Amino acid sequence: MQKMLQIDKLKVIYRKNQKSFLAVDCVNLSLNKGEVLGIVGESGSGKSTLGLSIIRLLPPRAKIKNGDILFEGKSICEIKEAKFNKDYRGRKISYIPQNPQSSLNPVFTVGRQLKDIIKYRTDIKDIKKTAVEMLLKMGIADAETRMNEYPHQFSGGMKQRVLLAMAFVTNPTLLIADEPTTALDVTVEAQILSLLKDLIREYNSSIIYITHDLGVVSEIADRVAVFYAGRVVEVNDRDNIFKKPQHPYTEALIKCLPDDNKDKKLDVIPGDIPDLSELPSGCNFHPRCNYKEDKCSRKKPPLFDTDSGGKSACFFYKKVGEAL
Ligand code: ATP
Ligand code: MG
Repeated sequence: MQKMLQIDKLKVIYRKNQKSFLAVDCVNLSLNKGEVLGIVGESGSGKSTLGLSIIRLLPPRAKIKNGDILFEGKSICEIKEAKFNKDYRGRKISYIPQNPQSSLNPVFTVGRQLKDIIKYRTDIKDIKKTAVEMLLKMGIADAETRMNEYPHQFSGGMKQRVLLAMAFVTNPTLLIADEPTTALDVTVEAQILSLLKDLIREYNSSIIYITHDLGVVSEIADRVAVFYAGRVVEVNDRDNIFKKPQHPYTEALIKCLPDDNKDKKLDVIPGDIPDLSELPSGCNFHPRCNYKEDKCSRKKPPLFDTDSGGKSACFFYKKVGEAL
């Protein structure tokens, strides 16, 4: 079966102060129709760079060095910019950028911004009616009046609801949501996640949900890809990831999650995420790893197929997860 999205050996390079480094290093990922893929990793691990590559909004100093991104079987790298902008960006592929709080334009009303998307990115004729209906569906009461308000008159959670209306009104095949709830407090975050789950069911869109929070991933994702220093170190179904992680980094992230039922001290992962321009030899994670052996500082582990149907970039993946 053809995958909706297929990312093959993707490498994205940044040039910064005469130095260059790979922010995304040989990433293979795929996504089926209607599937939610959670991408989780620490700050600087390349999550946003991956999302921006798919929507083709990488900053000028970044470039796809190698590999390909196939959307509905077609290489997006080969589509002309004018066509990509007309038919794909904001239409078939929606994007909620990191820091959505500042992604609404402060000088236009919320209604105007939503109506513009309906006008330019869909074929819907009844623009105003659709805008009101979308805002109501997002749980914004009194939508008709609130259409005339400006973004600063909306709370963080309400702004996020507006952005979800903008993202879903085009009925996208793929939505890339980059840390959409990170800036919200936990109760509002829970409300937005519950709304998003309803929308996913209704629209049957495929979602790439980027976050640093494994707890959020457990709520929403069908499958999880764990990023570390630009690489996918583990990928598997959500339940397998949480029940039996097969990479030491995933295991360490799970041990850092608060657990309501246990009176335990939270773990921390020792050390810092490495500077991408000065990566260690061998496995990128080995300086912070409890399972490391001599070979880990010499050889880069490939992605092994695990018994549970996932992949892990650890030579000792069979030993991992036993102690959870
Ligand atoms: P966060 O969780 O903080 O959003 P991330 O996983 O999304 O992090 P990216 O933003 O993709 O990470 O960054 C990956 C690497 O690329 C980091 O080392 C970052 O410093 C670097 N980087 C990101 N944007 C730029 C840029 N415009 N110019 C140069 N380097 C950049
Ligand atoms: Mg990011």
